[in-house]
Amino acid sequence: MIDFLNLQKSNARYNNELIKAAVRVIESGWYISGTELNAFEESFAKYCNVKHAIGVANGLDALTLTLKAWQELGKVKRNDEVLVPANTYIASILAISEAGLKPVLVEPDESSYNLSIENIKSQITANTRVILPVHLYGLISPMDEIMNFARDNNLLVLEDSAQAHGASINGRKAGSWGDAAGFSFYPGKNLGALGDAGAITTNDTELADTVSYLRNYGSKVKYKHDFKGVNSRLDEIQAAFLNVKLNYLDEDIRIRRNIANRYLKEIKNELIILPTITCEEHHVWHLFVIRTKNRDALQRYLTDNDIQTVIHYPTPPHRQLAYKELKELSFPLSEELHREVISIPMDPTLTEEQVSYVIDVLNKFDC
Ligand SMILES: *Cc1c(COP(=O)(O)O)cnc(C)c1O
Repeated sequence: MIDFLNLQKSNARYNNELIKAAVRVIESGWYISGTELNAFEESFAKYCNVKHAIGVANGLDALTLTLKAWQELGKVKRNDEVLVPANTYIASILAISEAGLKPVLVEPDESSYNLSIENIKSQITANTRVILPVHLYGLISPMDEIMNFARDNNLLVLEDSAQAHGASINGRKAGSWGDAAGFSFYPGKNLGALGDAGAITTNDTELADTVSYLRNYGSKVKYKHDFKGVNSRLDEIQAAFLNVKLNYLDEDIRIRRNIANRYLKEIKNELIILPTITCEEHHVWHLFVIRTKNRDALQRYLTDNDIQTVIHYPTPPHRQLAYKELKELSFPLSEELHREVISIPMDPTLTEEQVSYVIDVLNKFDC
């Protein structure tokens, strides 16, 4: 069986260093908000080329706490509208709801599956305050255009960078374009912890401070609480693992790009639509997502040929029970994408032979 993503194999590459990191934390006697987190925040901010990175418990909280901090700072008010792609993973939308704001879904661009200015414009109202572009599957959104549009219209931009660590436009990385960005280090992400973890990146010191209080019971000074905060801290042991794995992120991105380039060049089947990409640096290939009319047949065929696949995602957020208030809305392109997409193996530990096998099997698909 060719795994879609084998985390055991992937992390085994760093076994010695991960074990050393774990032992270091265990023996330190200090498990929350210590030197490992400080070191990771500093290195990750440097990696993204921003002033601040603030570690939190997961990617959902990274987005939610940023939106809450903007409310504490008077930049956003309750029930303001946040534009978000209709085809995103539901967490982007849940963060908006959790922060007491109103998600306004926007159809993605047909070829990038990300937001486009044209589609953003069609959903702007007097209540729009924030644009939340999602760099879906690892492809950075057109951030130069989105930032220009946001400046002209006095909107804030929160990048959902959960799938796009290291993607860039003209050398400027995801997480450094928006007013702030949320990252996830869920184990399966391109930079993954060995449990839950997340971070916010920003150049805005006031926002960074506010988020750092909110994640810790709204407290600046122990037992003094200026905000109604939450407990959303990034554990020392996870920070220690991330300190190891961040050193290998660029190498992993290089390997992912090599696999993606082979898929793009060598998969030749008119029943299959490949991802479109204009520039190598834009994409870090968190997922390699193809489209086909007969998706379920393709998935069965690949399973029969020992190739594991995953659907990202089977049900559009506006068709989920959680968002029954949106169920009358229609997003034809998003709905079509949810019917047609399928993600094929994308794992830095795939061998050349395994990649060749996946390509060969896909090229023989004919129903
Ligand atoms: C994974 C993910 C999140 C949520 O991150 P968690 O760490 O799982 O909370 C948010 N948005 C997108 C696009 C994601 O892929």
